[in-house]
Amino acid sequence: MPAPAPSPFDDDVDPAAPRAAEGLARLAVVLRQDAWRVATARGLTPTQARILGELCAPGAGPARLKDVARALSVTEATTSDAVASLVEKKLLRKEPDPDDGRALRLAPTAAGRREAERVGAPSAALVAAVAALPAADQGALLRALSGTLRALLRSGEVPVARACVTCRHFRPYVHGDADRPHHCAFVRQAFGDRHLRLDCADHAAAPPEEAEATWERFVDAAPE
Ligand code: SF4
Repeated sequence: MPAPAPSPFDDDVDPAAPRAAEGLARLAVVLRQDAWRVATARGLTPTQARILGELCAPGAGPARLKDVARALSVTEATTSDAVASLVEKKLLRKEPDPDDGRALRLAPTAAGRREAERVGAPSAALVAAVAALPAADQGALLRALSGTLRALLRSGEVPVARACVTCRHFRPYVHGDADRPHHCAFVRQAFGDRHLRLDCADHAAAPPEEAEATWERFVDAAPE
């Protein structure tokens, strides 16, 4: 996509990136407050709720503590404390790792799965705010978040990004339908920007070169 023409606004205000990042930081405050309120109402800490969410995510299986800590970008010590509490509450159990007889892995109990459903729903206030946007803006928001997540994955700031734009099943702009130009080779369906996934259970990470080519097509083939 060609670079936009310079605007007099470029000289008058701060660049867009830091202002957008400031907006995301404000939204993060809302999310943290909401996560704290929901988790504490259930007798959990936000970290405990996130651990349950990670282990109960669609497609997730039992995992070692260090892998859970990495996925959540928190220390193993913090994860260990939270896990001990969740085991005591009978929301998690430890079981032998079949790949390593000396290691243990974490698995949710049935009660833990029920609890994860209660505390794992996205912030209702934020969902309502996004739902009030025009449909095109919701699609544009998902595009922007996809690109931001991808960049943070590449810089190592986030350990995983199960987003369409990093998935080997993603085929951007292969259909003539402007409303659904993309294709998911996993479910064999056409879809549009408003359907982009940011945390898909069926995600399969594309090899780096393939991911790069997919991203370039996603950006370059977008209609102006
Ligand atoms: S499998 Fe999921 S992440 Fe991959 S392209 Fe399909 S919808 Fe997107």
